[in-house]
Amino acid sequence: MMNTKEILEMGEQYLMRNVGRIPLAPVRGKGVQLWDADGNEYLDFVSGIAVNSLGHCHPAVVDAITRQANKLIHCSNLYYIEPQVLLAKMLAKHSGMSKAFFCNSGAEANEAAIKLARKHAKLKYSQEKIEIITAQQSFHGRTLATITATGQTRYQKGFEPLPGGFKYVPFNDLEAMEQAVGAATCAVMLEPIQGEGGVNEASRYYLEGVKMLCREHSALLIFDEVQTGIGRTGHFLAYQHYGVEPDILTLAKALGGGFPIGAMLANDDVAATFQPGDHASTFGGNPLACAAALAALEEMLTGGVIENAAAVGSYMQDRLRGLAGKYDYVTEVRGLGLLLGVELAIDGGGIVSGCQEKGLLINCVNGNVLRFIPPLTITRQDVDQAMGILETVMDTIKK
Ligand SMILES: *Cc1c(COP(=O)(O)O)cnc(C)c1O
Repeated sequence: MMNTKEILEMGEQYLMRNVGRIPLAPVRGKGVQLWDADGNEYLDFVSGIAVNSLGHCHPAVVDAITRQANKLIHCSNLYYIEPQVLLAKMLAKHSGMSKAFFCNSGAEANEAAIKLARKHAKLKYSQEKIEIITAQQSFHGRTLATITATGQTRYQKGFEPLPGGFKYVPFNDLEAMEQAVGAATCAVMLEPIQGEGGVNEASRYYLEGVKMLCREHSALLIFDEVQTGIGRTGHFLAYQHYGVEPDILTLAKALGGGFPIGAMLANDDVAATFQPGDHASTFGGNPLACAAALAALEEMLTGGVIENAAAVGSYMQDRLRGLAGKYDYVTEVRGLGLLLGVELAIDGGGIVSGCQEKGLLINCVNGNVLRFIPPLTITRQDVDQAMGILETVMDTIKK
């Protein structure tokens, strides 16, 4: 077994520096607990970025993966795959959508959504109806098309030329959307709550308005629920808080209970656009990933997990508000369910590393928004423990 220092040194030598890594080497997890290579224990309120919603190594997921791995790991989408058709049916039942395409990540799900929307508009309306409108501060992934959909130049810089046909509007500003949508718009793509952009919630008024504008201009509404989906906000899907149903919905992150899988779902009319040969993925929807997702969804939907996310999420938001009142440098507490953000008037990096030293993993988006995305299975006691550590660390920073 390697220790932390050895793992870090080898990583420095052999890994590309494509992300700013934190000097921590996790080797084992159980529920909300995580252990590093030196045996230190952490309360994990990052969850692999909203992936481990059932906690680390949930027994139902581990068991499903083990059983499926002994049966069939991969074949090909040239054939019909039992766990894949079962997963598609389950998602149809709970998402309001009709059909599924499976891939391996959130970016791929959004890439597929963009391709589907473009082709749909060209077949149904005109060759010129190609524009996709997205929001500033959005995040849709790291492929060329999805960094272009992402309304933040810092993800795009250095990778030009970017694919054409994307347009950005300020988030939650219906007037700006009204000005932007037109005959050339084939789709509007939004996160109901922006995750990476700083935990920014859309209002019901906004999403209802955007849906009406889409109808008026024969544009599709795409919800990127890669982060907000699968119970994170206290409903199975975040759009269910708003009662505004999209035409296309994308999922990934928590879908596989920790195993990589993404999905692009659409209603029947839109899904019919794709003909054999139009889009595919070698690994997408493989038996192992689908078996993991089936087990995770079963647990999520029947184990009281989503109800827990809503109840414990609201308790945690109250606790954060209580804390926020103590410090002048906290400007806002926001979020839904267990996707929570605390905006600061200062840089959040010091609080993140201070918490890590004391055994709590949290993260910071946009430089100044502490983001809390713990497993949806946490208890009030876990929250109390985390809030205790957070308070100790925040006390050390001038008020
Ligand atoms: C994480 C995320 C993505 C990208 O998912 P990957 O699996 O990293 O490609 C896309 N959209 C949203 C909203 C996300 O949070």
